[in-house]
Amino acid sequence: MGTMLKSTLTQEKTNRRLDNASDPGRPGLDELVPSRYALRVGEIDVLVVSDGVLSLPGDMLGHNVDAAVRGAWLEDMFLPPDVLEWALNVVVVRSGDRTILIDAGMGMEFPDLPRAGKLVKRLQAAGIDLASVTDVVLTHMHMDHCGGLLVDGVRERLRPDLRIHVAAFETKFWGGRPDFSRVHMPPGFPDALQRTAKRFLNEYHSQLRPFDKEYEVAPGVLVRRTGGHTPGHSVVRLASGGDRLTFAGDAVFQVGFEHPDWYNGFEHDPEEAARVRVDLLRELAANRESLVATHLSFPSVCHVAVDGDVFRWVPGPWEY
Ligand SMILES: [Zn+2]
Repeated sequence: MGTMLKSTLTQEKTNRRLDNASDPGRPGLDELVPSRYALRVGEIDVLVVSDGVLSLPGDMLGHNVDAAVRGAWLEDMFLPPDVLEWALNVVVVRSGDRTILIDAGMGMEFPDLPRAGKLVKRLQAAGIDLASVTDVVLTHMHMDHCGGLLVDGVRERLRPDLRIHVAAFETKFWGGRPDFSRVHMPPGFPDALQRTAKRFLNEYHSQLRPFDKEYEVAPGVLVRRTGGHTPGHSVVRLASGGDRLTFAGDAVFQVGFEHPDWYNGFEHDPEEAARVRVDLLRELAANRESLVATHLSFPSVCHVAVDGDVFRWVPGPWEY
């Protein structure tokens, strides 16, 4: 076969694969596996959907510990020393007549984060129409949790009567002058976080349903404020027919089981965030419920065990 013909055929093949990438029903070029994982909590349907991954410096994991100690932990975990890929897990919950989106991923605000912001495409691939979402719950208003709602065209495709549940402390924090004095973030992040949160408040203010302490969004779906990571940070507790699962947002990172007292760079009140983490992990270990968290490796469904003074991460079995 002539070289020219061969390269033309290869090109055609590539084009066909690119066509698949734009077909929401099929995995495309960068979709070697469908990035979604379904499970049930009693009568409640739960779908974990990946928004992609976010590359961040290793010191984000524990900025209050010695670099050598952090480096040793990363090596023990077979993780690279410098840049880590943080998962971005979003959850869709169906309970009663409600379809609830818990967090919305990074969105497209930052073109230099090309491996994040895939939620809309992946919801489509999972057969979830944005117009079917009745409620959004935001664990907090950092851009990797609310940015997906700011992607071009998303607001228009969401229902006009959509309700967005977020703690009143959170809207107040970002609506004012948020305190960044205790965080440890890469340059540019504090500005970007403020800009995104303010834009979100502007665009969605009429749909916001702020709650004080907790709110039952649907039968067995309770959002509860914890504070710590941000003043209005919240977790979502699912309970049905004796089954329980908690979506912990940013209360728990991978390192948090073994080192719950390591400060994450994105925590606005690190001492309080550590206290929240320890209380939550203790509770989850005691009642043996499942845990899903934003930045645990996809699909992140796991259990928590007590291990001496700290905790142990127990990944859940593949059930399908
Ligand atoms: Zn986050």
